[in-house]
Amino acid sequence: TDFAALSLAPELLTTLQDLNYRQMTPIQQQSLPAILAGQDVIAQAQTGSGKTAAFALGLLSRLKVKRFRIQSLVLCPTRELAEQVAKEIRTLGRSIHNIKVLTLCGGVPSRHQILSLEHGAHILVGTPGRLLDHLQQQRLDLSELSTLVLDEADRMLEMGFLDDVATIAAATPANRQTLLFSATYPAQIEQLAASLMRQPLRVSV
Ligand code: AMP
Repeated sequence: TDFAALSLAPELLTTLQDLNYRQMTPIQQQSLPAILAGQDVIAQAQTGSGKTAAFALGLLSRLKVKRFRIQSLVLCPTRELAEQVAKEIRTLGRSIHNIKVLTLCGGVPSRHQILSLEHGAHILVGTPGRLLDHLQQQRLDLSELSTLVLDEADRMLEMGFLDDVATIAAATPANRQTLLFSATYPAQIEQLAASLMRQPLRVSV
C-alpha cells in the first residue's frame, strides 16, 4: 500500500512524500503495477478515487524528457477536468526539469494553442473536439505517442465525443499503451475499449 513498493523513480517518490501522499488509494493499488508495466488498463473509478495520480504517475514514469515530442495524450470530457488533470500532472512531475504539459480545450481561441503547439510539449491534456481540429489541421503529430488516456469515458460518450476519440486514437501508434477510466460501462464504452485496447487489465473500486 506504500508507493515505495513500486518501481517509481526516486524523484517521484520524494514528490509523493512532500505532497503527503502516504498510502496508495485502492484504485492506485490495483492499477499502478500494471500501468507502470506498460499494460492497458480499464478502471472503473469515480472522481475522488485518486485515478488522476494513477495515470499521471504512469505517464511521468514513461516520459523521456530529452525527447521533446508528444509522448502522452489525456482526453477529458470538459475543460474544467482537463485543467484539473494538467495541474495534477504538473504537481506530480515538478521534480522533472523542463517538462512541458499543455492543455488544449475548446471554448477558447485557437491562436495561442497553435503557438504553444509549435513550441512543443511532452504531455497534452484536452477535450476531443479541439484536439481533433488541431489534428485535422496538421498541427498535431501523435506519431510518437506512447500512452493514450481516456478519462471519464462515460461522460465523453454522453457529450457525443466517442467518434472524435476513435479518430484521434487512430492517429496514434498501434503499439501505444491505452488507459481508460470511467464510472460506468455502457455498451458503447465496452465497444470502444474492445477496439482500442489489447488484453486490458480490468480493475474496479
Ligand atoms: P482524483 O480522484 O484523481 O480526482 O483525486 C482526488 C484527490 O486525491 C486529489 O486531490 C489528489 O491530489 C488526492 N490524492 C490522490 N492520490 C492520493 C494519495 N495516494 N494520497 C493522498 N491523496 C491523494
